[in-house]
Amino acid sequence: MMSASGAGLKIQKSAMKTIPLKKLVSFLDSKLELSEFPGDESSNGLQIEGNPTVTRIGVAVDACNYVFQEAATKKMEFLIVHHGLIWGGIRSVTGVMKHRIKTLLDSDISLYGCHLPLDRHPEYGNNSLLLKALSLRKMGEFGEYHGKRIGYWGRYSKGLSLKEFSGLADRALHTKAITVDFGKKVMNVGVVSGGGWSAIHDAEKFDIDTLLVGEPSHSAYTLAEEMKVNLVFAGHYATETLGVRAVGSMLASQFGLWTEFIDHPTGL
Ligand SMILES: [Zn+2]
Repeated sequence: MMSASGAGLKIQKSAMKTIPLKKLVSFLDSKLELSEFPGDESSNGLQIEGNPTVTRIGVAVDACNYVFQEAATKKMEFLIVHHGLIWGGIRSVTGVMKHRIKTLLDSDISLYGCHLPLDRHPEYGNNSLLLKALSLRKMGEFGEYHGKRIGYWGRYSKGLSLKEFSGLADRALHTKAITVDFGKKVMNVGVVSGGGWSAIHDAEKFDIDTLLVGEPSHSAYTLAEEMKVNLVFAGHYATETLGVRAVGSMLASQFGLWTEFIDHPTGL
């Protein structure tokens, strides 16, 4: 349904069904298991309240004015993002924050943020979907973050070269991965989307030979060198479009709602 086109953009068209905002929010809160992460810095859930009725839904990685303006142009009433606007509270509504909130309020668009729950979710989460995209067999949870594992590790039945593996990641995620080769064949892969490098501390426990995360991290290098774990940095953005797109797809098939992915790649 919400398959990616070459540019990673996709429109989900169906009949113009509507849903009350309250019903949509409580459905998402429970489906995405927000209560699993009470300590997430992100205020997960409804961050900005807009139109009480929802017909058009946008999904995107980042809450920013580009995305908000696209949503306004497309007359969306509801936006779901992985990186929301509110992280540990709001100190002031000035400057960039004022402009962002004003764009949403002027267009009566609700903003719904879902951060760590959307990394970890076994069905709609970035990390489960990354394993699928890389054709890895899911073996278990991986990568502790704030006291809970948000990633997964998976296995290939036959080892790949690091070059083969990063080529696979490039094609599956429309990215250009940075690799650091410490000589192992790729077989047991730990996966954590975004800035998940600290998951390397789990590598020895699960006999991981390759760690795939989003953002490059200098700090990971010497640990990986001594653990002999290959590093693959596939891009923060590129590793985090999968979850929101899957949620859009799920809402389209569950409620017949019109959903669209707003692509705003950072290349980082
Ligand atoms: Zn992220």
